[in-house]
Order: sequence, then structure tokens, then C-alpha cells
Amino acid sequence: MSPRQPCRSAEPGRRVVRPPPPTVRAERHSLAPGPQVSCSAASPELRWTREAERRGPGGADRALRIVLIGPPGAGKGTQAVRLAARFGVPHIATGDIFRSNVDRCTPLGRVAKRYLDGGELVPDDIVIDIVSERLAEPDCRHGFVLDGFPRSAPQASALSRRLDELGTPLHAAISLEVQEEELFQRLAARARADDTEQTIRNRLRVFAASNHPLLRYYEQRGLLARIDGVGNPDDLTELVVARLKDLMARPITERRRSTEVALASIVGR
Ligand code: ADP
Repeated sequence: MSPRQPCRSAEPGRRVVRPPPPTVRAERHSLAPGPQVSCSAASPELRWTREAERRGPGGADRALRIVLIGPPGAGKGTQAVRLAARFGVPHIATGDIFRSNVDRCTPLGRVAKRYLDGGELVPDDIVIDIVSERLAEPDCRHGFVLDGFPRSAPQASALSRRLDELGTPLHAAISLEVQEEELFQRLAARARADDTEQTIRNRLRVFAASNHPLLRYYEQRGLLARIDGVGNPDDLTELVVARLKDLMARPITERRRSTEVALASIVGR
């Protein structure tokens, strides 16, 4: 049974043709923007970001550019919204972008639907294009919280290339880690159209297959923070912020060196 009725997906077996850029671009403009954060309610982190903006050239280095990694149901979305609001940067969720396009039966939505309904990943070229364009939007000037992208090492390396082009490298990759049994219970209690039992099982399987190389990619670059995703969401946000500050306070070369030492000791064991 297909959980989404109104929009017909592209025919199975046919090669998926990426929608032409102008159409995709038009979709992008109709996406809901990230949360608007008022300056008067600025948290210390937000003030920190805004002060950095005022500092002008070089100041943008203190903005927040992070990706959230984790299985379906790990709470990435919840934490992403909170972090984005707290740091005054947009929250970019690829799953939301696809669902919004499916609901509106756009050309992108028609292509994406069959993947979402089956719990499969949308092809890399489509996702990478959409995220690359989104990151060039003015509201990403001082950072972003990416949620649901990248999901694989090839997506991560495409993101690094794009950020290098923009001269704004990633600060951190936060991996929220939750046991599969707990995930299944959380997802079963949620009422999203692509949360059928079969789709959940497949999404968890797809996640497991691509996650290890993705974590390794970020670990080797000294960007990874692994966090236990079980617990009170407020406490979890504080934990993520503390780990972020900790990570960002250490130069990237030092972080890489400690990863190399850790990897060498594993190999040498
Ligand atoms: P979840 O984390 O629960 O799987 P998301 O909202 O992040 O939920 O994603 C929903 C669906 O959107 C995925 O199952 C997949 O089909 C598609 N999707 C989202 N992000 C990506 C991505 N980076 N690469 C490929 N497909 C994606």
C-alpha cells in the first residue's frame, strides 16, 4: 500500500531524469525558510554569531556550520530546529524538502515519491544539487544546520567540495546514536506518511549500510562528535552545544591528530 495517494510517482524501472534546474530552483524558493529568530531574544550563542557578523571579513569563520547524522527516529529534526534557532542559522532538512515537494506534486516530488515510499535514498545527484543550491542562499551566509544530509560518504565529499568552493568549511558533524529497538518504538509512535512498518525497516537497513563510511569520513577529518541520543531533549541540546564548543575550540589539525592516534592504536592492537 502506498501511504501517499494524491501524487503518482515516476514509473518503476525507468531511469530517473533529474528535473531541469529552473524547476528545481523554483521549488527551492517556495520552501519554508528556517526559523526566524528575533535579535531581542538573543541567546549568548546567537549574540556570539551576530558579533562575529559585525566583525566583517573573517568574522564569518565563527558562524555555525554543522551536519546532524543519525538513524530515522534519533531526534535529528528536534535537535536541528533547536540548534538552528539558538545560533540564528537556517535549519535545512532534506526529508522536509522532499515531503513538501511530494505533497505539492511538483516534478521533483513525483521523482522523490517512489524513493520515500520505499524507504530508499533519493539519488545522490538530485539531493546534492538541491543542497548545493540551498547553501548559496543569503540566509546561509553565517551558517546552517543540515539535517538528513549527508547520508553517505559520497554525499559528504560532495558537501565538502561545495563548502570549499564557498570558502566556508564545515565545523562539525554530530552523530546522534540510539539503539535500534528504541528507534523502532519511537518511529511506530510517530504519524508520518513514510513511517509504515515496512518502510521503517528499510530506512533502518539503508541507514546501517551507509552510516559507517559516513562516520569514518568525518572522524578522519577531525569533525565527528558522537552523542548518545537517549534522554531528555533539553538536556541533549545542552550536551550537543557543549560538545560543539569543545570541538570548535580545538584547532582542526589537533583534532585530526588525535583521530589518527586513535585509529593507529586500533590498527596496532
Ligand atoms: P528519516 O531520518 O526518518 O529517514 P528524513 O525526513 O530525513 O527522515 O528523510 C525521509 C526520506 O527522504 C528518506 O527516507 C529518503 O528517501 C529521503 N532523503 C532525505 N535525505 C536524503 C539524502 N540526504 N539522500 C537521499 N535521500 C534522502
